[in-house]
Amino acid sequence: METIYTAKHKLRDARTELFGGQLVAPFERPSRAEHVIARIREEGLGAVSDPDDFGMDPIHAIHPQHFTDFLRTAWGRWKEAGFEGEAIPTSWPARRMVDRPPRHIDGLLGYYALSAETSLTESTWDAAYASAQVALTGAERLQEGASAAFALCRPPGHHATADMYGGFCFLNNAAIAAQHMLSHGACRVAILDIDFHHGNGTQDIFYDRDDVLFISLHGDPLDAYPYFLGHAEETGMGAGQGHTLNLPMPPGTTFAVWREGLARALSKIAEYGADALVVSLGVDTFENDPISFFKLRSEDFLTTGQDLAAANMPTLFAMEGGYAVEEIGINAVNVLQGFEGA
Ligand SMILES: [Zn+2]
Repeated sequence: METIYTAKHKLRDARTELFGGQLVAPFERPSRAEHVIARIREEGLGAVSDPDDFGMDPIHAIHPQHFTDFLRTAWGRWKEAGFEGEAIPTSWPARRMVDRPPRHIDGLLGYYALSAETSLTESTWDAAYASAQVALTGAERLQEGASAAFALCRPPGHHATADMYGGFCFLNNAAIAAQHMLSHGACRVAILDIDFHHGNGTQDIFYDRDDVLFISLHGDPLDAYPYFLGHAEETGMGAGQGHTLNLPMPPGTTFAVWREGLARALSKIAEYGADALVVSLGVDTFENDPISFFKLRSEDFLTTGQDLAAANMPTLFAMEGGYAVEEIGINAVNVLQGFEGA
C-alpha cells in the first residue's frame, strides 16, 4: 500500500495544551507521525510519496473561506493584540448568547473553536493545509484505480466541522477527501470513523446529505470528548436521515465488543453500496492510550485491518488520533498490514 506523507506536519508543533487545569506538552505532537512513518519504512509496507498540491478549491468545497481566512491569519492577529502565549480561546457563544463573530481576536477564537485544548500557533495553518493535501492525494490515488492508500495526515481532522476547529483538528481531511471523490465521479462514499473519539466534525458536515454514509465507533460522549455529539439517536436529518450511525461504547470496552460494532458498521456499509470507503484511522482505542478508555491490544489492530479488507472496497485510510506515541506506529501499521494480508 502506498503511503502519502510530508515532513511539513512538523510545522504543527504547539508547546501548550490546556489539560486538567494545566498547560502541558500537547498529546498531539510531531513524534506521532514520525513513529508511524518509521514503522512503515521498517516493515516495507510500500512506496512513500509526497502529496501533490490541489490548492484551496477542494478545501473550500468543505470549509467556507471566512473560516480558512481565520485559520490563516489568527496567529498574526493574536500576536498583534500583544498576547504572549499560544492562542487559546476563553469565551464562547454559549446558550442564549448571540452567534456573531467578534472583532477582537480573543473573542474570534471562541467563535471558531469547539474547545480550548487546541492551541493555535505560528505555522499551524501551513501544517493543516499540507495535511489536507495528503488526504487529497490519497483520494486521487483511489480515483486513479488504486485499491487502497494511506494518507498519513497530521494534524488530524475528524473533529473539525465546516467552520470550527478543536480536538487537535483544523481542516477535516477525511471529509475533504470524500468530497473530492464525489466531485470527480463517485456517487456515494462511506466514511467509517474508528478513532476512539466521535467524529463530530465529519458527522456535522454530512449530516443532511445522502451521498455520504457516516459511521462512528467511539467512547460514549457522556463520558468522553467531544461530549456534545455522537449519541446513538443521532441518525441524520433531511435527505441524510438514516445516513449517520453512531455506536457509542462505555469505558473498558474490549475488542470482542468493539468488533461487533465494526461488523454492524460494515454490514450497513455493504447495504449502502458506496463507491469508496474512507477510514478515519485513529488508534487511540489502544488499551494504553493516555486519554482514552477502550481496551484494544496491538494484535487486535491486525484483525481490524482484516475485517476492513473483507468489505472489498477501494479504501482510503486517513490518520486521525492515537496518543500512546511509542506504540502508534505498530498499531496503525498493524491495521494496514492486516488489510493487505487478508
Ligand atoms: Zn481520538
